[in-house]
Amino acid sequence: MPFAISIANLKEALRRSGCPVCRLGHQAAAASVESFLWENVNEPDVRQPIIDAYGFCPRHTCLLVAAEMRNTGPVLGVNIIYEQLGRLASRELSQLELPDRGPNALAAVLKRLGVNEPSSTASVLPPKGTCPVCTVVQENDRGMLETLFELLARQEEGFAAAYAASDGLCLNHLRRGLGQFAAPYPQAARWLSDETAARLERLSAGMREYIRKNNWEYRDEKLTEAESLAWRHMLTFFTGLPGDDFTFMVDEF
Ligand SMILES: [Zn+2]
Ligand SMILES: [Zn+2]
Repeated sequence: MPFAISIANLKEALRRSGCPVCRLGHQAAAASVESFLWENVNEPDVRQPIIDAYGFCPRHTCLLVAAEMRNTGPVLGVNIIYEQLGRLASRELSQLELPDRGPNALAAVLKRLGVNEPSSTASVLPPKGTCPVCTVVQENDRGMLETLFELLARQEEGFAAAYAASDGLCLNHLRRGLGQFAAPYPQAARWLSDETAARLERLSAGMREYIRKNNWEYRDEKLTEAESLAWRHMLTFFTGLPGDDFTFMVDEF
C-alpha cells in the first residue's frame, strides 16, 4: 500500500515535464545529500558506505558540492570525507602488489584466441559498495514505480488520464517498472505498454511530418505545434529529461 505522500508526489511530477520517476529520483537524491550534509557528516556509520564506494558517483559528487556551496560556502563536508578517502586510497595503493614483469605472453595468446583473461583490474581498489545516493534513488524509483502500477491497477479516479497527458515514463523506468511489476499488476502493465506504444507511434508520425515539411518542396506547409515538439517528447522518452533541456548548449567538461 503506497503512502499518501508518494501518491501526491507522483501526481505532482506528472504535471511537470520529463519522466516523473526521473524527476522524483533527482529530488530524492538532493534531499539525501542535504540530510547527509546537515546531520551526519561526522557519523562513522553514515560515512562508511561512502568510504566503501570510494566516494559518490560523479553526478552525485557534483550534487554534494553544489548543495554545500549553496548552504554554507566553505565545503567542509567535502573536505572531511574526501580527505579521509584520499588517505585510505593512498595507503591501499602503496601496499598494492603489482606484477613485476612486462605484458604476460600467455594473456596475449588467450586474448588472440578470444579467451577472456582474468580481469587484471579486479583487485585494484575494488569498491565494496555503490554510491549511497544512487542507492537512495534506486529505492525511491522502486517505490514510485510500484505506486504508479498500483494506482493504474485500482483505476484511481483521473490517474490514467493524468498519466496519458504527462510525458510518461522514460524507457529506463518503463523497462524497470514492467520488469518488476508486470507480474503483480498485469492489467496495469498491459495498459502502460499499449499507452506507450500509441504515444511513440504518434510522436513518430509528428516527426515524419517535421522531416517532410522541412523539404523545400513543401515549404508552404506550416508545422503544427505538436509536430514541432514531437522530437523533444521522443528524446524525453529515451532519456527521461524534460524536452526543454535539449538546446545548443552543452556542459563543457
Ligand atoms: Zn525515468
Ligand atoms: Zn550516485
